[in-house]
Amino acid sequence: MAENIIKNSNKIVIKIGSSTITSEDGIINKAFIDSLANQVKSLIDEGKQVVIVSSGARIAGVSTIDKWSRKEDVNYKQALCAIGQVELMDSYRIIFNKYNAHVAQILLTREDFNSHARTLNIRNTLFTLLDEKVIPIVNENDTVCVDEIKIGDNDMLAAQTTVLWNADLLIILSDIDGIYDKSPIENRDAKLIELVDDVDELEKHISIGKSSSFGTGGISTKLKAAKLVNKYGINMIVANGKKENIIEKLASGEEKGTLFI
Ligand code: ADP
Repeated sequence: MAENIIKNSNKIVIKIGSSTITSEDGIINKAFIDSLANQVKSLIDEGKQVVIVSSGARIAGVSTIDKWSRKEDVNYKQALCAIGQVELMDSYRIIFNKYNAHVAQILLTREDFNSHARTLNIRNTLFTLLDEKVIPIVNENDTVCVDEIKIGDNDMLAAQTTVLWNADLLIILSDIDGIYDKSPIENRDAKLIELVDDVDELEKHISIGKSSSFGTGGISTKLKAAKLVNKYGINMIVANGKKENIIEKLASGEEKGTLFI
């Protein structure tokens, strides 16, 4: 089923989680970005349009400046994001250029989605970039967002971007094959759930454990994202970004994820 959904989707948002964009040692995983660039280029060559929503600014900030990682003050967290966002985009730019693709940075806040004028401007910019085959890379604008006014996690930022752009499909790449009936780290017998057509019903039957060391939202924000996009009739897939050529393998049926329809 995921095979046909990917084949028939022309507008795809791909969300990259913190645990996917970073290596074990907490630095930006350039090999992953390289593999992502290759996969996105193939989708574009097939005539599809792709928007990326990428986490990782704060972790990139910590590994760049090598201090403040334990500071809890909001201003230090924001400073780390400001430093790391440049590093993150620099990696995307250099690696995507190798594939003859240009990238553009779009930083958004919760308020941007609540204002008619702003959503119109965002949409126009997205359309222009995509018409010109430039790949927009979206992240939350942490400099202007304190915790109280943040979207807070990029699963929801990706879902809102998906709705705003009226995409056909949201692919969330995480460090796990999909949603399991219980936390796979803590339970060896956890089973992958391949198809979900009612997120509320699913929530009654699964248990959620803690997220990975670099993760932020965990599974509950992915379910919240699924509810939002599904409400607009848009499909969503959670799959393992750590697997080589995962999008191609989902499209060929060789790999499975969790599909929310
Ligand atoms: P990301 O950084 O990609 O947004 P997170 O680390 O926040 O991802 O969330 C994914 C993690 O959630 C997985 O690594 C997994 O260990 C954990 N997890 C807890 N409960 C579940 C569950 N029921 N199904 C799948 N993963 C789960």
